[in-house]
Amino acid sequence: MRLAGKCAIVTGGASGFGAGITTKFLAEGARVMIADINGDAAAAVATDACETYGADRAIAQTVDVSDRGSVDQMAQAALNHFGQVDILVNNAGISHLPTPLEDVSEDDFDRVFAVNMKSVYLTARALVPHMKSRQSGAILNVASTAGISPRPNLNWYNASKGWMITATRTMAVELAASGVRVNAINPVAGETPLLKTFMGEDTPEVREKFLSTIPIGRFSTPEDMGNAACYLCSDEASMVTGVALEVDGGRCI
Ligand code: NAD
Repeated sequence: MRLAGKCAIVTGGASGFGAGITTKFLAEGARVMIADINGDAAAAVATDACETYGADRAIAQTVDVSDRGSVDQMAQAALNHFGQVDILVNNAGISHLPTPLEDVSEDDFDRVFAVNMKSVYLTARALVPHMKSRQSGAILNVASTAGISPRPNLNWYNASKGWMITATRTMAVELAASGVRVNAINPVAGETPLLKTFMGEDTPEVREKFLSTIPIGRFSTPEDMGNAACYLCSDEASMVTGVALEVDGGRCI
């Protein structure tokens, strides 16, 4: 029960890594808002969670993390429901398809940057004042190994994740004195719906190419991300801020 008494928001919590983080947080005692643009999927995850852990443990919220009004509503709904927010996980993210950098459409570029980057600013605007007032809080940004070691043709996605890592460090430095820790995790390719977007086409050859960059020899899982997120957002990591933890099976390229 490493998160007992904590209240968390997990964006993109209805699928993939976000659902893995939500599951782990619930198992460790947290109350969780599953905040996702897919409101039906978020509601289904929340219903399952309440059946397993109790009616007061999870709520669903429909949010578009790229939209200021929607993010403000999410933050207010969490504060109204829980009375406090101890943990914010900026997990919702998207990618464009693998495309030569000059051919990515302006619409795709704008959407990737709004969902992956502007969202971090918007959630900070909405929730950092609350965390500062309590002199306590943990923010986790789900970046990517692609932000450090770019994958070909995922150009602007790679860049958005590099931005997230820099944002993590700058937020950590600025918020440390206010009792707010900010960390990131850098997942390697994982078996989630998003993987197909990264791969372009889901063939054994493309899968083998991705796997060949992961020395541990498997794709990452939502459970891997839940475990790493739990540590960084728990009080066990009270001296850890500004890190981007590689959850990457030793990715070497
Ligand atoms: P996923 O597609 O399974 O889940 C993403 C979730 O975010 C979905 O539930 C989706 O509805 C939600 N979402 C999308 N846009 C949103 C928006 N504007 N507002 C609110 N919710 C929104 O993807 P995933 O693989 O679990 O990815 C989670 C995070 O992990 C992303 O930030 C992604 O960039 C990162 N990541 C994934 C991989 C991988 O290989 N899967 C690798 C490295 C990093």
